[in-house]
Amino acid sequence: MNEAGCIFCKIIKREIPSKIVFENDLNLAFLDISPISKGHTIVIPKKHYSTLEDIPEDELAETIKVVKKISINIHKSLEIDGYNILQNNFAAAGQVVKHFHMHIIPRSYDDDKFRLEIPKNQASDEELNEIYGQLKF
Ligand code: AMP
Ligand code: ZN
Repeated sequence: MNEAGCIFCKIIKREIPSKIVFENDLNLAFLDISPISKGHTIVIPKKHYSTLEDIPEDELAETIKVVKKISINIHKSLEIDGYNILQNNFAAAGQVVKHFHMHIIPRSYDDDKFRLEIPKNQASDEELNEIYGQLKF
């Protein structure tokens, strides 16, 4: 399954060059062309799925296995203190390439990259209950 014009499908088909660090039957991992930090890697399924909502669970599990394998290798091989796994869905969340992918972003204590800002103030019970009512299965 490929999508015409999809840059990641083109990478899979070797129609455009990339630095592929790992490949198996279902997945591919390659260096991000505009790395947030050294070693920033993208992991994708070889089949074209647009978002998390589209990829079948068994294939997602295989992709996560590759993310873990690559993450451990990055952690061992590069002098880093940690890493973020980031996965954007839909444009509002910053998804630019509409082929499901996971970012592995190496981090160090003293880097000046992004930090997730958790607000210091807690929500009221009323606020939490309202959303809880909407979301609970
Ligand atoms: P996202 O914002 O989650 O859609 O991220 C897409 C990522 O793909 C960005 O970090 C881009 O730098 C990266 N990217 C786009 N084109 C290429 C390419 N040809 N080779 C490697 N990485 C790419
Ligand atoms: Zn694609």
